[in-house]
Amino acid sequence: MNILVINCGSSSIRAAVIQSRSGKTLGTLRVERLCDGVSGSNLKIEIPGNEVVELACPSDEHEGALSFAIKQLMEKLGDSVKIAGVGHRVVHGGRKFDRPVVIDAEVEQAIEDIIPLAPLHNPANLAGIRAAKELFGDLKHIAVFDTAFHRTLPRRARQYAIDPQLAEKHQIERFGFHGVSHQYVARKAADFFKTDERELRVITCHLGNGCSLAAVEYGRSIETSMGMTPLEGLVMGTRSGDIDPGALIYLAQQEGFDINRVDELLNRESGLAGLSGIGNDMRDIEKGAADGDERCRLAIQVFAHRVRKYIGAYAAVMGGVDAIVFTGGIGENSALMRSRIGQRLEFLGARMDLDKNREAKVGPDNRVESISADPSRCQLLVVATNEEHGIAEQAAQVLAGHQKPTAAVDRTIPIAVSARHVHLTQETVEALFGEGYELTPRNPLSQPGQFACEELVTLVGPKNSIERVRILGPTRSANQVEISRTDEFALGVDAPVRGSGDIENSPGITLRTDHGEVTLEKGLICALRHIHMTPEDATNFGVKDGDMVEIAVTGGERDLIFGDVLIRVSPKYKLEMHIDTDEGNAAHLSRDAQGALLSTEATGIIRSRRTRFDTAAE
Ligand code: AMP
Repeated sequence: MNILVINCGSSSIRAAVIQSRSGKTLGTLRVERLCDGVSGSNLKIEIPGNEVVELACPSDEHEGALSFAIKQLMEKLGDSVKIAGVGHRVVHGGRKFDRPVVIDAEVEQAIEDIIPLAPLHNPANLAGIRAAKELFGDLKHIAVFDTAFHRTLPRRARQYAIDPQLAEKHQIERFGFHGVSHQYVARKAADFFKTDERELRVITCHLGNGCSLAAVEYGRSIETSMGMTPLEGLVMGTRSGDIDPGALIYLAQQEGFDINRVDELLNRESGLAGLSGIGNDMRDIEKGAADGDERCRLAIQVFAHRVRKYIGAYAAVMGGVDAIVFTGGIGENSALMRSRIGQRLEFLGARMDLDKNREAKVGPDNRVESISADPSRCQLLVVATNEEHGIAEQAAQVLAGHQKPTAAVDRTIPIAVSARHVHLTQETVEALFGEGYELTPRNPLSQPGQFACEELVTLVGPKNSIERVRILGPTRSANQVEISRTDEFALGVDAPVRGSGDIENSPGITLRTDHGEVTLEKGLICALRHIHMTPEDATNFGVKDGDMVEIAVTGGERDLIFGDVLIRVSPKYKLEMHIDTDEGNAAHLSRDAQGALLSTEATGIIRSRRTRFDTAAE
């Protein structure tokens, strides 16, 4: 479908009509010099295959200029081009937006509420939304946020080391930007390797006028170099990136700089422009350096060093890296910067082929090129980003109603710790509690229809007993006792690791209550860690019932990877991974609380999958 993509910046407007699937651009417009109060804005319209049209724009404020420009573009495209929806780039989605959304009054208000966090950009974005809604009142408008992709950053990466109350009051945390581009190129890299992005750890280097890196771990952004504002991190065109905050205090003391002067210095007079003294265009700086200009050389060295430093850091954060992607004006076009950055990354298994690097050429028709030497454990790629296409794709997914929820929602699996427990047949219940006895539900469990009961039993082993073991209902057709490895040692038994229901040739155990005692012949198992999910979840995760997967757990105090996790699929299930107390303790997940099944704040993501077991039915 055709999407009109609008990117309304503080002093310019860009818009394009794009086929969401192919990425083909049907027409673009650009309005420059908005609101500068001097020269009047001008409009350029480009329809591929036709001459560029330049017009004076009758208005130099956003809404007037956008209405005029879009009408002109649609006129030039002609009646045959139908638009299915409008995708708006919105720079800041704050804490609220972790995915693209249809813009209604509430969303508009939320974007307005976020203005203090993006005082230059969000008002311009809103002006674009309002003008476009006037023009296309009967179409859906979708906001695609630059921050949304990074909402998966774990708290430890989001949080600055300042008073949390102050941080909370003013939302001082790391949001990250360039999300549409990082997400787009990470996916292009996965497509290039003919694999799923959930199989890869990628470092995406968006190096343009603004620059940022992202650590994209199995499809989710877990670190990025821009922070609360787009000033943190790498050296950029005119922005300093990282600088010791102490230096600013010192400058204020020594030079009497006030906050506006500091803003001007760091946002407009620093970075490549500040270092080189000849402007922010990397082409000029490379030329200057080749001609022996010391400041240009320094600019290149500082720029490359900072990127390389971040790559090393992000490889450490992810515990390894499968691919490093270069994109943005500099990343796509400057072989010199790529080779500078790529020096001394061999320890990561990233070896650059210098010929391939020199010759790499990406663009609309050829989005990805490998510049790795063969063999290379970590692949180096150049990928042409296309934020407009990224926005069109996301908007089209929302319109089609099958928007792939973002990683935060879709790709993480909640984890619950399952304490030792017992499933019983009605016959055993009666033997333990009396004839005609019915189990008393105490609280529901996450899986529909399942509940923890008031009733408790004692497990009697050859060595010791374990008291107060909870019975889970409803009753089943076979008895099953699920304990941890530590329990096995305490009881003096040896239970096999099994999927639920798979109790053939398992040992028995004695159950005791005040009323009676039953010795089971079989049914004692140590539960195979498993994930419950619906068929829809299974499609989303690319797994089938009975598959075994590897799960990386984060959110506890000790990140951990579990192998041999069984996938169990049923429409009755709710998405949740169940591990036992030993496993929960190993990842430092268990809270000091008692219960049959405790949800934790931790989540898991699938790292790899393989088909192996035929699951026994429950
Ligand atoms: P972007 O913001 O992504 O458009 O990137 C703009 C930056 O890319 C500017 O610093 C340009 O100088 C730089 N750039 C574009 N083409 C080249 C090139 N061939 N070599 C070096 N830098 C380039």
